[in-house]
Amino acid sequence: MHVRTLCASAFAALLSMGLVVTRTDAQPDTVKQIVSGVWFREGDLKGKGHCNNVVIEMKDYLIVVDANYPSGAQAALADIKKLSPKPVRYVFDTHHHGDHAYGNPVWTKIGATTLAHRNVLEEMNRYEPKRWKSETRKDVTDLKLATAERPKQTFGDKPYILEDGSRRVEFHHFGWAHTRGDGFVFLPKERILCTGDAATNGPYNFTGDGNIGNWPVVLGKASALNPQRVLPGHGPAGGREILSGEMEFMQALRRAVASELKAGKTMNDLVQFEKGQPKSTSVKLPDSVKNWVGSSLPGQVRDTVEEINAGKPHGDLPH
Ligand SMILES: [Zn+2]
Repeated sequence: MHVRTLCASAFAALLSMGLVVTRTDAQPDTVKQIVSGVWFREGDLKGKGHCNNVVIEMKDYLIVVDANYPSGAQAALADIKKLSPKPVRYVFDTHHHGDHAYGNPVWTKIGATTLAHRNVLEEMNRYEPKRWKSETRKDVTDLKLATAERPKQTFGDKPYILEDGSRRVEFHHFGWAHTRGDGFVFLPKERILCTGDAATNGPYNFTGDGNIGNWPVVLGKASALNPQRVLPGHGPAGGREILSGEMEFMQALRRAVASELKAGKTMNDLVQFEKGQPKSTSVKLPDSVKNWVGSSLPGQVRDTVEEINAGKPHGDLPH
């Protein structure tokens, strides 16, 4: 497969090749209460390619963070019914990727409103229906739809707020990190931050649609909310160390690649390809960021070389 076609669903492709190693402490398909009325459901990334979900209980309804793939949405929905009889009213797409947004039709079918930053809609308009049509997962093809269902409601420059006296939930956009549409959900009273894939807890960063240079800037703005608990798009829940570690990883990646390029190295010195796919890399990152270093590193190095050489965000390059 040519490198450019893999880009669209690189992470899914790595998964299907058995190349994604999940953290040894992964607890797929488990639901944990974070505080009263807020639950974290760790998706089965390795087995089914699912993202994590967060369920937030309001007075009369529930908010779900991320639509997941359709089968992930069904699995989350089955668990949600055990948590609360309240209806799911909002489902927030943290970004446009299939493992976070292709389940949208499952949620709208039960009456929920899918919500996202307007850039998620723009990303879908940019990349779809190409990616939807190239998707071979049965849960996606079984929907028999021509393209990805867009979020039904979007917001722009100002954060979107849901507040009902029981709880305040803020939906933020801090710019382009993992995708142009990266959304964060913040509960100010509980100091809980849901990050989507702008911050993952483990080696799960897909950089193809990203802006590697701006990624730490976005995380800095998210950090300024001063969260105590961080609920990532992939990997286990944790604290602020997820944000700081992710930020350090992106800085270290860019710094390491930039210094190699400055020393005269080229793509072929830094990344070894097999059948057009990045297989290994000579770039080494410090031990302090090893939680984020895994099978995706050769691809991340390739993307970083391309971003630096082009002088523009990787997501702006043809792919
Ligand atoms: Zn993603």
